[in-house]
Amino acid sequence: MRIKNKNVLITAGPTREYIDPVRYISNGSSGKMGYALANEAKKRRADVILISGPTNIPQPKNIKFINVVSALEMFKEVKKYFKKCDIFISCAAVCDYRPENFAAKKIKKTGRAISLKLVPNPDILLLLSKSLSRRVAKPPIIVGFALETDNLVRNALLKLKKKNLEMIVANKPEAMESDETSGALITPKGIKHFSKISKKRLAGIILDEISALQ
Ligand code: C5P
Repeated sequence: MRIKNKNVLITAGPTREYIDPVRYISNGSSGKMGYALANEAKKRRADVILISGPTNIPQPKNIKFINVVSALEMFKEVKKYFKKCDIFISCAAVCDYRPENFAAKKIKKTGRAISLKLVPNPDILLLLSKSLSRRVAKPPIIVGFALETDNLVRNALLKLKKKNLEMIVANKPEAMESDETSGALITPKGIKHFSKISKKRLAGIILDEISALQ
């Protein structure tokens, strides 16, 4: 699918799940990969919407940019734009869990142990790929990411199938805050490994692969 003039929806960065007004659960995602994809797709004249969790990266120019904090907020925004997109690239490191309760006031130190109950967040990618895409006449191309500490390709392949994706990009954990990444780009047709390449370069390779899809 040609990238030019296509509606490309990209999620990037981590989500933050607040416990109280000053504390949260999150992860070390920098957002660099998602922003690189957004910039590269823009360069190829796509209409890009970037939905991003909190990052330190300046907002890309000439790209529709939506800031979110939590997974639930990200889900709400993605649902708004998913139906109209031709390509959905789910690059965000969405927190799998959020605190069951939000304390409106800062939790006081008591010196005693406290426990925090976590409840699952919606799997945005899974829910959209399984349900919504089937209801639209022309389902979008859906690309997922996977960060794997072990059995990189095997685990990513399972996610490719479970989440019904055209492509999954499996990264090693060292990629998380770095400008470089190593891993494998997996489609049902085959696997391409990459080692210590810049996220900018990987963004180009991913979009080339999408262009080669029907
Ligand atoms: O299952 P796992 O979290 O490893 O899958 C990673 C992929 O799923 C990424 O593309 C990520 O953006 C997406 N994801 C999501 N919502 C979640 C968790 C992951 O969209 N709650």
